[in-house]
Amino acid sequence: MTKVYKSIAVGVEEEKRIITIYYKPYIRYEFSAGQALSRYLQELKNGRIIGRKCNKCNRILVPPRLYCEQCFRMTDEWVYVRDEGIVNTAVVSYITQDARKAERPEVVGVIELIDAPGQGIFHRINVDPKEVVEKTVFGKRVRAVWKKSEERVGDVNDILYFELVKS
Ligand SMILES: [Zn+2]
Repeated sequence: MTKVYKSIAVGVEEEKRIITIYYKPYIRYEFSAGQALSRYLQELKNGRIIGRKCNKCNRILVPPRLYCEQCFRMTDEWVYVRDEGIVNTAVVSYITQDARKAERPEVVGVIELIDAPGQGIFHRINVDPKEVVEKTVFGKRVRAVWKKSEERVGDVNDILYFELVKS
């Protein structure tokens, strides 16, 4: 392995050219989501959003954390929150999740949850990109559209997207 790197370094210096190496990494890993995030993912599979409440600052943390970083103490209880929020930030994305060019642009942004002020979920928002450009989407109320229960796997993509709440 060391020899390979040496020859690359020499090649770059002597020939003044850029060497490009293509390889497909084979990386397998697993990690524990932890107690709080595991429960969050399980509840997403059930079609519900759950958070942790800190009784000192009265915040509901979503995604849930067992420790309140503002109060330096453990959070106190599990709380279900409605799957509704307000569009806090939004951008028009022209690339897919895996950085390929999107067939059509989509709007993504942070939805601040009605029941958990200051906490948000970054997700797709099913609106015309024009609403972002014209800044009319911000502050609008949206609701999660979920996958069918048999299709949910315990992932944030169990929510397909957020859509505008008709008033
Ligand atoms: Zn707190």
